[in-house]
Amino acid sequence: MENIIELRNVTKSYDGKTAVIEDINLEIKKGEFVTLLGPSGCGKTTILRMIGGFESVTSGDIFLDGRRINDVPANERPINTVFQKYALFPFLNIYDNIAFGLKLKKLPKDVIDKKVKDVLEMVDLEGFEKRKIQTLSGGQQQRIAIARAIVNKPQILLLDEPLSALDYQMRKDMQLELRQMQKELGITFIFVTHDQEEALTMSDKIIVLSDGKIQQSGTPKEIYDEPANSFVADFIGESNIYNGNMTGHLKVTFCDCEFECLDDYPDGMRIEAVVRPEDVDICRIEEGALKGEVISVIFKGTFYEITIQCGKNEVVAKSTDVVNVGDKVGINIEPDGIHVMPYDATKNHFKGVIGADGGITFADNVIHPDLKLIFGDNIPENPEGINISAFFDPSCGDLTDDAESCDITGNIISIIYKGDHYSYGVRSASGTDYYIDDDYLWNTGDYVGIIIPEEKLEFDVQAEEE
Ligand code: ATP
Repeated sequence: MENIIELRNVTKSYDGKTAVIEDINLEIKKGEFVTLLGPSGCGKTTILRMIGGFESVTSGDIFLDGRRINDVPANERPINTVFQKYALFPFLNIYDNIAFGLKLKKLPKDVIDKKVKDVLEMVDLEGFEKRKIQTLSGGQQQRIAIARAIVNKPQILLLDEPLSALDYQMRKDMQLELRQMQKELGITFIFVTHDQEEALTMSDKIIVLSDGKIQQSGTPKEIYDEPANSFVADFIGESNIYNGNMTGHLKVTFCDCEFECLDDYPDGMRIEAVVRPEDVDICRIEEGALKGEVISVIFKGTFYEITIQCGKNEVVAKSTDVVNVGDKVGINIEPDGIHVMPYDATKNHFKGVIGADGGITFADNVIHPDLKLIFGDNIPENPEGINISAFFDPSCGDLTDDAESCDITGNIISIIYKGDHYSYGVRSASGTDYYIDDDYLWNTGDYVGIIIPEEKLEFDVQAEEE
């Protein structure tokens, strides 16, 4: 199938400094239902607005049917948009709301009548032509907004959280209707939501975004079953996520227990393991690979959400079995219930250069480590200008609310629970991201200081050209 939209190395910054979209590449095929999914502020709307032509790209290119459209104005793109707020004209009746654009184009009355009638049928509101906007429910108003957007048969329909103002049941109904409508029309839908369930239900393809970057792109099943990293695993569905290591061929150890797995990575490699709660089997304590005590049981309608404390780690299970708080239980996890992801070894790697006073500027600040830590006994006579890379393990650091006392400060941008601690992403004012583990629960947006003991920094001398 052909690509209808392609973004090549697209970057966007609003203030000329911080990029809210960072070097994104994406492809959308003709007739696909594609969802841009991610937390608030990750850049979904910005991407949609650039495709629609309401926002320029700072660098990179956008192609439509293979033609570069960076400079094509919004009204000349075969693209229409449905917004979160219905944006209907309250003083016009439904016919006139839908016919508005067609009248501007001076189409003959009988053509307009036919188009309005057809599109009202499409959104299941036949005979509503004369009704006033105020007399419609939220769901009906949104259907009119959709009818207005599709009446001209655009090639692409952009939908920016179009269902978020609707109540739960209407939202569910509209999800199915929209999907159906998209199939019938054959129009490419690019849909924005922060609701992972909505994305899983509706899409052919989901593009998961965080902090202006694409984290993963794939079918709902690929994204759910094979998340590319811990952000995606945490954002899509419920999951237990643990740090661990490969401890043999198809053997992985996490929560101080070795399991068989299906992912083939080298022995000794550092990994993150994802286990969905529905893949945690609770059994008699003597039969379990892991053993623990039930610390909470929450009834969820069709199953119980059960949390089990296994040593230092918490394991969350979904089960229809009845267990009680305080029960001692065993846990088994089948190999296909464990998804192993390589640990991202690029986290907390920074490059710096030795200055005249022996200090190294790295990431946000200047540090003055004992040069012996870097060169051993062979400290060069004039180390100025030598490129150095520095690294610290996320588990070596700590967070504090006494930010003023720290050299490195920032705001928390991501939180992932890892069974016995939280893994935080912290972004400094200059835009550098740090990853730190901490036992304490902070909130997204908290302003924190990062404490890294100097002796925990690992240094490496870089070759000239780096
Ligand atoms: P939400 O789900 O909350 O709408 P989003 O993922 O759609 O979020 P965007 O609206 O694309 O995110 O915003 C991405 C980032 O760009 C945010 O940090 C936002 O503050 C910033 N931003 C968006 N529009 C502008 C603008 N016109 N000027 C400056 N910054 C902007």
